[in-house]
Amino acid sequence: MTEQLKKQFTKRIVELQQRVSAIHRDFADGRDTDWSEQAGERENEEVLNALESEAKIEIQHLSNAITRMENGNYGICQTCGDEIAQQRLQVQPAALNCIQCAD
Ligand SMILES: [Zn+2]
Repeated sequence: MTEQLKKQFTKRIVELQQRVSAIHRDFADGRDTDWSEQAGERENEEVLNALESEAKIEIQHLSNAITRMENGNYGICQTCGDEIAQQRLQVQPAALNCIQCAD
């Protein structure tokens, strides 16, 4: 079961990394627009920045989860050591804490 999840997470990381590189390409393309478009570009940059940080955080979470799978402690609450409910892991596969500790 973890092997399958690990594959799923790895695939997702690759997708996210591709998204981050696409964002960087957009930044590079945006550099040579003329001044009249600068305001719009700046707003666009903020959105792209937000998307990039989101993607990076998710990559971080997913690679942490993979490390935990490799260490055999995936699905174990980091705070209390109890098992994290399957239901919770389905919604939030990279969850580090059980519902009680997450609150
Ligand atoms: Zn807990």
